Amino acid sequence: MQQNFYLKRDQLSSVLSEISRSHALFVPQKKDDDYVYLPWAQIQGEEAIYNEYRGVEPIKSFLTHSKESVSEYFQSSGVLSETKPVAVFGVKNCDLSSLTLQDYVFEQGVELDPIYKKRRENLLIISSDCTGFKPTCFCLAVGNKPYPEKNFDINLSPINNGFVVEVGSPKGETLIRKLNQYFTAATTGQIAGSKIKRDNIVNDLNRHLATVNMPPANTLQKNIQEGYESNVWKEQMLTCVECGACNFICPSCHCFLLADEKKQDRSERIRVWDSCLYANYSKVAGGANPLNTRAKRLRNRFVKKFDFFPDNLGQFGCTGCGRCIEACPAKIDIREVLKALAKK
Ligand code: SF4
Ligand code: SF4
Repeated sequence: MQQNFYLKRDQLSSVLSEISRSHALFVPQKKDDDYVYLPWAQIQGEEAIYNEYRGVEPIKSFLTHSKESVSEYFQSSGVLSETKPVAVFGVKNCDLSSLTLQDYVFEQGVELDPIYKKRRENLLIISSDCTGFKPTCFCLAVGNKPYPEKNFDINLSPINNGFVVEVGSPKGETLIRKLNQYFTAATTGQIAGSKIKRDNIVNDLNRHLATVNMPPANTLQKNIQEGYESNVWKEQMLTCVECGACNFICPSCHCFLLADEKKQDRSERIRVWDSCLYANYSKVAGGANPLNTRAKRLRNRFVKKFDFFPDNLGQFGCTGCGRCIEACPAKIDIREVLKALAKK
């Protein structure tokens, strides 16, 4: 099947309405300077909004929930309680690259997570190019582009009055075939137009990053390794209140905790997101706690993101989305930690 199509801008809402017939569709809505995801059913009648940059919620929220029963799933013989598969519109590349990490953890480890696998198979991803960025965005500094390259079903690149639509998977191909009345073949001029817009956003973001002055991506792993005993970890963690916000908002973080919770006359096994910055994160039943200081926990987070994942997956465990910078009440900034380590 041909890979590039054209969709008129004024037909975007009709396409999303069609998708919502078979999917629980989530779309971004603008709230101050942010985009938050709402169910399409809740905003029906309004035009779809094209988000310039990533939403508040990381894509992992659609694949593992912050707290959910896992025993329910096994008691129902592997039937997910969700009635419709989920579709998400406006996913940006920082979230798409995090899916490679989430897939690695939940699907390619010793144990396959059946709940994640089902949700992942069902998830329909309608991604789009960034046409703007937040001051905290730094994807280019960790080797990511502000436009999708993989892990999407269809991608929208805006051009005047419409979008160049790229097909990224068999699921995307089926969708285009089903809704073929909305799509025409993209012309070479339209494809060239979308490329110019991509080049422009890369240039704009590079200009912004020049003011942030982060160390080059190819030095990050070495800086973490050489800075293992550095005072930077302690200095940077003085204000941390161990809230876990940086982990929960991160599209790449994936640690979870299994616990039993009393529910009326029985107990239920639940899974909750965990945070490697919590004091008890690595505490074991005998009482030992190898990560017994905040400095060690911060270092562990950075070693995992900038040393373990490059070695094991060929990419950083940070996609440069900037969410943790905005979420941290203590104003701990991942870019500043990386800069401090480079200077040590
Ligand atoms: S570490 Fe921070 S900037 Fe990096 S992917 Fe996670 S939330 Fe985004
Ligand atoms: S968000 Fe900030 S204060 Fe909260 S755990 Fe992370 S580093 Fe600490």
